[in-house]
Amino acid sequence: MMKELYESLGISQRVVAYSEEILKKLEERFRKIDETAEYNQLKVIKAMQDARVSAECFQATSGYGYNDLGRETLEKVYANVFHTEDALVRPQITCGTHALALALSANLRPGDEMISISGKPYDTLEEVIGIRPSCGSLAEYGVTYKQVELLEDGNFDLEGIRNAISEKTKLVEIQRSKGYLTRPTLSVQQIGEAIAFVKSINPEIICMVDNCYGEFVQRMEPSDLGADMVVGSLIKNPGGGLAPIGGYIAGTKECVERAAYRLTSPGLGKEVGATLGVMQSFYQGLFLAPTVTAAALKGAIFAANLYESLGFKVIPDGKEERYDIIQAVEFGMPEGVVAFCEGIQSAAPVDSYVTPEPWAMPGYDSDVIMAAGAFVQGSSIELSADGPIKPPYAVYFQGGLTWPHAKLGIMKSLQRLYEKGIVKW
Ligand SMILES: *Cc1c(COP(=O)(O)O)cnc(C)c1O
Repeated sequence: MMKELYESLGISQRVVAYSEEILKKLEERFRKIDETAEYNQLKVIKAMQDARVSAECFQATSGYGYNDLGRETLEKVYANVFHTEDALVRPQITCGTHALALALSANLRPGDEMISISGKPYDTLEEVIGIRPSCGSLAEYGVTYKQVELLEDGNFDLEGIRNAISEKTKLVEIQRSKGYLTRPTLSVQQIGEAIAFVKSINPEIICMVDNCYGEFVQRMEPSDLGADMVVGSLIKNPGGGLAPIGGYIAGTKECVERAAYRLTSPGLGKEVGATLGVMQSFYQGLFLAPTVTAAALKGAIFAANLYESLGFKVIPDGKEERYDIIQAVEFGMPEGVVAFCEGIQSAAPVDSYVTPEPWAMPGYDSDVIMAAGAFVQGSSIELSADGPIKPPYAVYFQGGLTWPHAKLGIMKSLQRLYEKGIVKW
């Protein structure tokens, strides 16, 4: 019955059989992921109960949004989940980059210096910081920047960090996920050790973590190990696929307060910001986030093992511990990237009938192909893939709101590669 249904979705018996064989070897790993999801699910439920979430919290407010119970309670819930003093969780934070820019610009003053200690930060932050000159960057406001590369083995360069820190150092930034680089992703434990090291040099330095794609992958978050701020996007893990927009900053009272005054206005801070009816999706998305993240992780591990067994280079490899939900597969030829993305697109619940094509995109130095059939536009916690059409012809993919969908997407990608003669058995 199942095989027939897969066949009706365009997947051959052969691909089904091959996939099932790969999956047999992953049972133990998937069981561990389910345990983490269970732990994090309980953590979220406890956080909601402790904050006394009620049906009134879902009511829409408009205008100034004074005394918005839903907003204030949700910020308590986030603070409870991340074990921080406070949190700012708003639909007015438009995306992850905005949340990060807000956290940085709110906590740095002219003459201050920030140091990225995990090497080059995420692309979009280059303009925020002013690494690439840009209108409104921190550099324009007289904030200076230094960068300490990770060591060859992916660990923090403690000696380099010690040498880089000076009297001017106000804030240290750590990016948890590798993003679209090929370095290893940092574990929460590694991040905790780096923070302890920075604090041993100067406890006043603010340690901020770009938490994008990392939330709920492990049982602990960087804020459990000393981060002053964790920052992320609600159209990634913590929005659980339901939040239609938004970002968060969870951290110390002072850091969050400064961010609030920057987001709205000095004097107003957290007191304003109508929620316009999105609160239920924020709460419900957070409630689902642990199991959604688990589904995405299973998809990444399945793909790694499937494509590794077929002789392709995969990053992370099939056996590695996971600290984020991103998977890269190198095809070594453009046709591989295109076929993979076509497969992902054709498995989507939305826009499954469109064919993605490589295209010139602003900010990229080559054509890029993107596959996404998402309920929330641009949401990358939903199954999505993209690949720049240049060597080593790697595709990056992530997400999957449910494991069966992630599985279908990967099977469709293999089917497509098989049909095009790129995968030969
Ligand atoms: C996605 C991401 C960002 C930026 O988020 P946007 O919502 O795309 O602006 C920043 N850092 C990392 C590591 C990310 O994965």
